[in-house]
Amino acid sequence: MTEPVINGVPIPRGQLTQINIPISRLPSHTLIDLNVFVYRSKVEGPALLLTAGLHGDEVNGIEVIRRLISEETLMPERGMVIAIPLVNVYGFIHNSRTLPDGKDLNRCFPGSVNGSLANRLAFILMNEIIPHIHFGVDFHTGGSRISNYPQIRCVLGQPMNKDLASAFGPPFIVQSEMIDKSFRKEAAKKEKTILVFEGGESLRLDEFAINHGKAGVRRLMQHLDMKNHREKVQMPIVIQDTTWLRAKNSGIFNSFVECGSRITRNQPLASITDPYGESQTIVRSPQEGYIIGLNNMPVINAGDALIHVGA
Ligand SMILES: [Zn+2]
Repeated sequence: MTEPVINGVPIPRGQLTQINIPISRLPSHTLIDLNVFVYRSKVEGPALLLTAGLHGDEVNGIEVIRRLISEETLMPERGMVIAIPLVNVYGFIHNSRTLPDGKDLNRCFPGSVNGSLANRLAFILMNEIIPHIHFGVDFHTGGSRISNYPQIRCVLGQPMNKDLASAFGPPFIVQSEMIDKSFRKEAAKKEKTILVFEGGESLRLDEFAINHGKAGVRRLMQHLDMKNHREKVQMPIVIQDTTWLRAKNSGIFNSFVECGSRITRNQPLASITDPYGESQTIVRSPQEGYIIGLNNMPVINAGDALIHVGA
């Protein structure tokens, strides 16, 4: 690798360099930029990227990186850490997953220089950041009203994926194929391994998920011999198959189980009732496994995703 230059700014060794890459102005003329923190050691080594907030309402990921920055955890003794706590500023200020044009940034990679706002943002990440890194973790949070138990998603069969995921040491490692036009897939085409972390629920801070995210980054830095944070190694549970249990009918959803818990086949997991106490349907587990995601919405429609079961 040549000496890194990001958005025209050279990255010197042995210090933190902060770079603000201008993206565009809001209609109010307020400048929106991408805040990039580059921690480069004096010693050559691996380059690790940490990104969050590609989905603007996924606050737990943003908070993981924000805390790692403010606790001064990220300066490595070897190599380089590039931290971008908030990628989609537009979604963040509107409590929204998407950009103002309604586009999901994580379906717009590799982006284009003159495309929609989402495409432009994707283009900046692919061209200014990806060339400088070897590995990355992209931090996400469960979708609207769905909480994800802390987990790393990756393609277990691909080189480096399982190694890095195990080193991160989340409660679960979940086999997850890459989605077309996602950051993870486009980075993989450039031979850069990006793991996806999921933890908690959108628009709700979750200390448990945030702490798992932080501990994982510290373990990954240890594993890559970047810095010894003295974080204890954890053995994750590997999930090969996942299924969403969907609501057979509409009504009020009462879950009997906690996210993350182990379940057995046929175990009653939840009930769906009408609001008048006249009918009740029991949702049973189709298989043995773990609950890796749970809908927190009490009022549901037939077909809604209720419980994410991993086996
Ligand atoms: Zn997300």
